[in-house]
Amino acid sequence: MPEVPAPSTRLMSNPAALVPHIPLPRLELLSDARTRGAECVWGGERLTVETAIDLGKHTDNGFSWFPRACLRCTRSAVRTARDTHPDRCTECPGPTSLCDTRRALHDLLLELLR
Ligand SMILES: [Zn+2]
Ligand SMILES: [Zn+2]
Repeated sequence: MPEVPAPSTRLMSNPAALVPHIPLPRLELLSDARTRGAECVWGGERLTVETAIDLGKHTDNGFSWFPRACLRCTRSAVRTARDTHPDRCTECPGPTSLCDTRRALHDLLLELLR
């Protein structure tokens, strides 16, 4: 039986290209602990190596930050990203067919719900 990787590994094994499609809170509204990834970027929960999901490196006006999140908040953020994606996407061919990004967001959500 294949070993189940930790959540952070799972998210990062997905294309890092997905992260820009998951809306994050505005940097200027975040505490220092949240920009460092010590606390969940959305809910402020204290994170550990086991629970944290790595959202990659972000750069805003030359400032680099490394948001991480808990599983619960990541799920709801990915769900929101998936559901609102077609409104913002120029590549989605239509309401009944999905572009690769939308499909990948959907797959990621299913992974996170396991
Ligand atoms: Zn959280
Ligand atoms: Zn799309």
